[in-house]
Amino acid sequence: MENKFHPETICIQGGWNPQKGEPRVLPIYQSTTFKYETSEQMARLFDLEDNGYFYTRLQNPTCDAVAAKIAALEGGVAGMLTSSGQAANFYAIFNICSAGDHFISSSTIYGGTFNLFGVTMKKLGIEVTFIDPDASEKEISAAFKPNTKALFGETISNPGLTVLDIEKFARIAHNHGVPLIVDNTFATPINCRPFEWGADIVTHSTTKYMDGHATSVGGAIVDSGNFDWNAHASKFPGLTEPDDSYHGLTYTKKFGKLAFITKATAQVMRDLGSSQSPQNAFLLNLGLETLHLRMPRHCENAQKVAEYLQSNPKVAWVNYCGLENNKYYTLAKKYMPNGSCGVISFGLKGGRDIAIRFMDNLKLASIVTHVADARTSVLHPASHTHRQLSDEQLIEAGVAPDLIRFSVGIENADDIIADIKQALDKAI
Ligand SMILES: *Cc1c(COP(=O)(O)O)cnc(C)c1O
Repeated sequence: MENKFHPETICIQGGWNPQKGEPRVLPIYQSTTFKYETSEQMARLFDLEDNGYFYTRLQNPTCDAVAAKIAALEGGVAGMLTSSGQAANFYAIFNICSAGDHFISSSTIYGGTFNLFGVTMKKLGIEVTFIDPDASEKEISAAFKPNTKALFGETISNPGLTVLDIEKFARIAHNHGVPLIVDNTFATPINCRPFEWGADIVTHSTTKYMDGHATSVGGAIVDSGNFDWNAHASKFPGLTEPDDSYHGLTYTKKFGKLAFITKATAQVMRDLGSSQSPQNAFLLNLGLETLHLRMPRHCENAQKVAEYLQSNPKVAWVNYCGLENNKYYTLAKKYMPNGSCGVISFGLKGGRDIAIRFMDNLKLASIVTHVADARTSVLHPASHTHRQLSDEQLIEAGVAPDLIRFSVGIENADDIIADIKQALDKAI
């Protein structure tokens, strides 16, 4: 019902529809459990015969309202919250892959996701092949195997800032009878709605722009409801064949377009339990209420900062897809005509040591392991997140030793630029 409103209205009003005498603001249902009149009523919930709350690990009214808001923003049929972005990506894959299965992922993705896919999921018997997202359809198609179950990429990758050709990826996935899963964290549904370009499942680290104020780690999964699991039934037995842990219920038969999210909630969340706390969901909801106002300002400020850096002779290089000479400018304009995100990366002449001197002299921008915050934040991956790697290993990992990741906040752009200028003057 909410999908008919514009994103701005959904940001404010989506998810929570109070009835007569109920709180106007989404309440925090800080309760692990929910009361019933008869044993039979509760039993029906456990059998998925009725819809309702019984234990917050599975579902909670605060979390569900926020999940519904995010689903509406993405134009999907249903969503679920998770305790982190890591859990969202893990659950999205694990909901359709088990030991012996394979999936394909863009190689330019968030470092945590890269480890999850390449190291931890491998220990569970799920193999990944990483591909260059800019490779041709033919090259990417060559990575598919009979046991491949999904294709994965990030709309704008963190920290590489590559832009995904979503239509190309959707075409490749669908030609092979598998869904395209897109991590839409950096663009947010304000700037890009991957379902409109053929993606089937969207994931988020809500920790970033959605929360936006650096208060709560969280994640979300949204299903478009568009992927036809039954058309490829033998690939997805978990959805199309009876689930022994629910007396032989079949998700696609009983839940139709809601099959994927129902299984993710009723089975994967039930058993693995990375649920978001109602308190964090409440804070996330406050963030979402201004997402449509904050994203344009992040993009506007980032554009000004990127242009300033590009014109400064002390700067060796700048990577931001809003710059016309950027490799991804055209793709960014196609998928995100109103702006991409507020994250920029750049290098200074003089390299690594100068980068550190520059950062230590920043006053307004703070050194934190975080991006996509209302406050301007800065990180030097070679000294922080990737500090165990040698310069050669850093280059192999796609992280230049001099790379500074600069997450432009929503302060006044002139103040941010003045801070950069004074720090550059001290550093070089
Ligand atoms: C941060 C991030 C994640 C992981 O999210 P957490 O909330 O930190 O677990 C996943 N994907 C992208 C693109 C991210 O930026």
